[in-house]
Amino acid sequence: MAQPSTAHDAPTEAAVSLQGIAKQFGDLTAVKDLDIDIRGGEFFSMLGPSGSGKTTVLRMIAGFEEPTAGKILLHGKDVTRTAPFDREVNTVFQDYALFPHLTIAENVAYGLTVRKVDKATRVKLVSEALEQVQLGHVADRKPTQLSGGQRQRIALARALILRPKVLLLDEPLGALDKQLREQMQIELKQIQREVGITFIFVTHDQEEALTLSDRVAVFNNGKIEQVGSPREVYEFPQTEFVARFLGVTNILPAELSQRVLGNGEVHSLRPERVQLTDPTSPTDADTVALAGTVAETVYAGAHTRYLVDTVDGIRIIAEKQNSHTPRTEPGVNRGDTVSVRFRRDHATAVPGPVSVPA
Ligand code: ATP
Repeated sequence: MAQPSTAHDAPTEAAVSLQGIAKQFGDLTAVKDLDIDIRGGEFFSMLGPSGSGKTTVLRMIAGFEEPTAGKILLHGKDVTRTAPFDREVNTVFQDYALFPHLTIAENVAYGLTVRKVDKATRVKLVSEALEQVQLGHVADRKPTQLSGGQRQRIALARALILRPKVLLLDEPLGALDKQLREQMQIELKQIQREVGITFIFVTHDQEEALTLSDRVAVFNNGKIEQVGSPREVYEFPQTEFVARFLGVTNILPAELSQRVLGNGEVHSLRPERVQLTDPTSPTDADTVALAGTVAETVYAGAHTRYLVDTVDGIRIIAEKQNSHTPRTEPGVNRGDTVSVRFRRDHATAVPGPVSVPA
């Protein structure tokens, strides 16, 4: 759930404080009554499906959109009606937005030039910024002479050179292929640690949000369903939407939960928490055992997924790391009779109505 709001007029320690923020576009409510405090130096991700309102929130923090209701505080100062260039924030966009006719050094220096910083200081800061993203050697090139990953790093250097208190990043790695994206994720995190600036990062990629963030806010339909550390939102989802959006999960219906867990709420159970065993092997009071038949095995390199149809009429997905299975065969085969086992305390109640993205 969103954090409780502070008293609306009180100064706050938070780097960014959104207080009762809403945004209406005509009939459409893009963001609904949102309260959140983002801490100084935090890597904070806004994660959610397309259209859930993440970018609109980011644009309101930047000042490109005005909220229909509520207040935005930056380090305690009310900036709700402040122009974008008067806010101590900077934005990195997915499409880099580099000037094609300027060199890389000129692109990175752009914000300093606008602010009339003297030439000697500019040269020094540009050189430092380029070193920071390990691209000192491309200073004289034009943007078209760089790869996608390099352009993204330049966009980052250009934003960081102004030393904003808060850096807003809107799907900055979205245009990169998977391998480069993963490499850039590590670099981005390292740079953020080095500079200590608050990063607010928009993504629809759950793995990216988990990898990078100190905290993640999961958006659905203009609202935040849950805010927490990556481990909290993945291991302890508070709603079925969060459980499903953050990777693969099994949803145990209320009736089955009542019978096997003694709790009539719907539960989420991650596949890696499920073991498949021989039906005759002993079990204990902390473990739930369901009889079933393997319907499908899906080999995915590092792990294999097993889809098991239980006698209770529920299909359960179990995931097993392949570190201990023979390299040449799946270990468990389609059609095998198995026992699906999991610890009671590995199932998480996800109460409340199912919320569906707009
Ligand atoms: P995506 O990942 O696709 O960017 P998002 O979660 O960032 O999605 P938003 O871009 O914030 O979502 O959009 C939220 C809703 O507001 C969507 O239904 C979108 O169509 C609508 N919307 C956004 N900007 C405008 C606008 N300028 N005018 C009208 N509707 C808008």
